[in-house]
Amino acid sequence: MPKTIIKIRTWACHDCNYHQDFDVDDVALMALHFPGVEVGHCPACFQGLTENKQKKRTLMTRQTDETKKTTITIMGEEEVEELEVDDTSKTKDVEGKFQKRKLVKAEKDAYKQKIRDDVVKFNLMRCEL
Ligand SMILES: [Zn+2]
Repeated sequence: MPKTIIKIRTWACHDCNYHQDFDVDDVALMALHFPGVEVGHCPACFQGLTENKQKKRTLMTRQTDETKKTTITIMGEEEVEELEVDDTSKTKDVEGKFQKRKLVKAEKDAYKQKIRDDVVKFNLMRCEL
């Protein structure tokens, strides 16, 4: 299976350019991610986390510009075969770094399952839905 590229639903603040991938009008999700921020408002502007540090109330809107929607790229399962991680069972080299090793089967299986889960998850967030 090759890479999966999915364009997902995106809400944007046109004032500070903050983007998020869940509905800004969803009370439960907003409370979960940004407690204290009023529903519908840009969390960055609301909390003064923007460049000019000014707190203000800016309403977010659904991003309609295709080129500005958030794009998720999920690696293909065959790429897992090439992945390398630090080999912590060996001693570090002179630069203080671990040697790299390929993944063992159980690790590969876990990565592949994560890839499949991500494909399902992000397909549910596709921008045309
Ligand atoms: Zn903003």
